[in-house]
Amino acid sequence: MFDLMKEEQEVIDAPGAGPLAVRKGTIEFNNVSFGYMPERLVLKNITFTVPPGQTIALVGPSGSGKSTVIRLLFRFYDVESGSILVDGINIKTVTQESLRRSIGVVPQDTVLFNNTIKYNIQYGRISATDADVYQAARGADIHDRVLTFPDGYDTQVGERGLRLSGGEKQRVAIARTLLKAPQIILLDEATSALDTQTERNIQDSLNKMCANHTTIIVAHRLSTIIHADEILVLKDGEIIERGRHEHLIGQEGMYADMWKRQLENRDAPPPSLEN
Ligand code: ATP
Repeated sequence: MFDLMKEEQEVIDAPGAGPLAVRKGTIEFNNVSFGYMPERLVLKNITFTVPPGQTIALVGPSGSGKSTVIRLLFRFYDVESGSILVDGINIKTVTQESLRRSIGVVPQDTVLFNNTIKYNIQYGRISATDADVYQAARGADIHDRVLTFPDGYDTQVGERGLRLSGGEKQRVAIARTLLKAPQIILLDEATSALDTQTERNIQDSLNKMCANHTTIIVAHRLSTIIHADEILVLKDGEIIERGRHEHLIGQEGMYADMWKRQLENRDAPPPSLEN
């Protein structure tokens, strides 16, 4: 732990950095290039704008740089060249705390605290009242489920308590984000397969959560982004196709191939147990 504390902080606030006051929630990436190691760029000249309240989706093969876009916007790392702006302000010039306060993240895998389910939801806004927590849980479609737990909202969850399924954990993350009510939402879609009903429920809660918020989704299931305002197809850190779903299908490029493959997999019979 002491070694860890001695590690130099990679991202530091600029001297005199002020807080970011998000008004509309416009996100801009201007010619952003970035590598975790200097010798290998993971993102190359990425440029896009997400207007207030709109949704942009990032798709592409594993390792193409999708999650890195999200990490840069959350400022876990600083860009090599180019700039990232929120409402016209370069995120390098504001405090990290204020930036992260304005952004809600629903990660692939939500970590639960060894505490009550109520605490885990309330973490989105510690000052939230019980009524706020229940409302957020309803919005995330998990309230009724919580009421079936042995001690309701006081049930201990996490490693040493009730284990929640992947879908339930993601709904806890959605409830947290609803409580936090940020202007900007970053959503890293879970790769793990969910059953169709769970997926539909989660999709409904996600749609409700993202409505009227500026949203960036890292998508694995293309069915979830058919209505995105723009889809960016990444390959080896570059945007190789961009546009709405119908446009990209018409292009008959990589997106259209990915779409065909997902449809085939959906229609394929389940793998035989004998093989
Ligand atoms: P996936 O769909 O599998 O989540 P992705 O498109 O989100 O992939 P990224 O996680 O953005 O891909 O990774 C892009 C590239 O950067 C990959 O080659 C990956 O190996 C590399 N990478 C990611 N994180 C780090 C890190 N912390 N240090 C070094 N390289 C990294």
